Amino acid sequence: MLQEPAKPGNLQPKELEAVYAISSAVIRAVNTDDALDEIINLTRPVFIFDNIVLYQQRSDKNLEPIHARAIGRGRFLEADLAWGESTAYEAHQINQTLIRVEDLTDVINDRTGIRHYLGIPLRLGEEISGALVFIRFGGPPYLPDQIQLAEFITLHIAQLLERHQLVERIAILEARRRLDNLQDDFIAMISHELLTPLGFIKGYVTTLLREDTFWDEKSRREFLNIINDESDRLRELIDNLMDSSRLQAGTLEMNFQSVRLDTLLQDASVRARSRDENMKVYFNQPIKGLQISADATRLSQVLDNILGNASKYAPNSPIKITVERIDNKVSIVIKDRGPGIPSDHLEQIFQRFYRLPGNTNTSVCGSGLGLYICRKIIEAHNGEISAQSSLGQGTTFNIILPCEQPS
Ligand code: ADP
Repeated sequence: MLQEPAKPGNLQPKELEAVYAISSAVIRAVNTDDALDEIINLTRPVFIFDNIVLYQQRSDKNLEPIHARAIGRGRFLEADLAWGESTAYEAHQINQTLIRVEDLTDVINDRTGIRHYLGIPLRLGEEISGALVFIRFGGPPYLPDQIQLAEFITLHIAQLLERHQLVERIAILEARRRLDNLQDDFIAMISHELLTPLGFIKGYVTTLLREDTFWDEKSRREFLNIINDESDRLRELIDNLMDSSRLQAGTLEMNFQSVRLDTLLQDASVRARSRDENMKVYFNQPIKGLQISADATRLSQVLDNILGNASKYAPNSPIKITVERIDNKVSIVIKDRGPGIPSDHLEQIFQRFYRLPGNTNTSVCGSGLGLYICRKIIEAHNGEISAQSSLGQGTTFNIILPCEQPS
């Protein structure tokens, strides 16, 4: 080691002032890179250097330059100049401040041929986690007072990195905590969604199997219909869960074919009315015979979900569907006159498992997967889906699809 660790008492007033400004930059730091730049700018008037490189140890024990600046003579030759890597390794390994001079004047005949390196180990907590290297081209050599100042600045940089590590660790812990909560919520919600239809099925099957009671044909049919509907609901939920995980993993394949959009929409409205006899679907200027390239099954799934939602969340409201061709795209607008969705929830309804807070307690069943799946399917068609809404006036879903898929 060249000398004792830096003490602020040895610093000149101007240097003390710079060190004070550096301390406050560390305290104020929001972004580590910006703070490092600020520290470098504050250092430069009190400490001469051309290049500065901060090396940090990676998990494989190698040193990685995480911040480097060429300020003085090397500024225009950045790519050609050495960045003090071996000095950094040595200072880090022996855990001591060191000076190295490299003379390359036989190949480089200007001042950049003589390089004065100052390597200072970087201590983060108990560990040596890297090194800070200053480089002066052509001198002057580093004097003991200057080295103390450089060590003092390195100490501050170490504090900045320590803070950064702490913030990162807190963010990881926070993300883990959120994930745990999300998983708990997910398990609770899915269990509830699976158990509800299963409860009905089990209840009605047990009722039908009772040997001490005779059920007339009408009641038997009614019970069997409930069992049938609840089995469909169970099936739909499991399908949604599987689609959602395939879409999340990007393994759901699309089978693009030429599809007649008017037929697809008509079929979807017939299916919606067969599920909800009160539903009224109106078409505004249908474009007859418009063909687009799409996966018919998946696009039908999107339409079924939006119309199904309209029947669940906007019961008895008329539904208006408008199709329009705009250049080589097609716009499908599905509008209901239900209660609407508050504007701060409009983007979130497309997230996985998102349901409006009021919904979760109501009898309207759902898993919050439908619109997430819709968005993923539309995106897989290179299209876009969005929602607009006015409270008390209804909700509009806009789908934009290209007429042709890129080959
Ligand atoms: P799910 O219906 O299974 O809850 P979705 O992803 O299909 O899930 O919808 C997410 C949420 O968006 C719903 O829980 C509901 O709160 C809201 N929503 C969807 N469509 C409508 C609509 N037409 N009107 C009002 N709210 C709607």
